[in-house]
Amino acid sequence: MATSSPLPQDGRGYFMLPQMPEESGYYTYGTPPGGRAQYAHPQMLNFIFKLEHTWAMTEERKIGIGNISLAEGVAFPPHKSHRNGLQVDIRPIRKDGSKQPVRWSSKDYDQAATQKLVDLIWQTGMVKKVGFNDPKIANATYMNGHDDHLHVEIRL
Ligand SMILES: [Zn+2]
Repeated sequence: MATSSPLPQDGRGYFMLPQMPEESGYYTYGTPPGGRAQYAHPQMLNFIFKLEHTWAMTEERKIGIGNISLAEGVAFPPHKSHRNGLQVDIRPIRKDGSKQPVRWSSKDYDQAATQKLVDLIWQTGMVKKVGFNDPKIANATYMNGHDDHLHVEIRL
């Protein structure tokens, strides 16, 4: 990172999540794209880096990291939260590992790997809530609209 340009930072002092780093266990997506939806509280960056590092020890497929917050924490419809940099949307794991969304009802969805992801999320010890709608996934709460992504809230 030393030779690349500095990461964008907003008025809260929050940095944008590094975009598509080659040596990591995650890829980035989001609306709006290009990291504009990925301004993260410092503790959120700690969480994501811990999670992707642990994940990548046993997995080739990358975790899809999506919306966190917009610069300055302005309102982010249709999200109700996603304003303080402490919530992140994460895609379930696909069998083919492609960087695409997947619903839990899809044949492309990998339930066992998604459970492993949810387990690792909790094992960070930094998490308050995981929302996701596959009823067979343990330790995830039903949340309206969360058929194709996990909503993770971390605590401080
Ligand atoms: Zn969310």
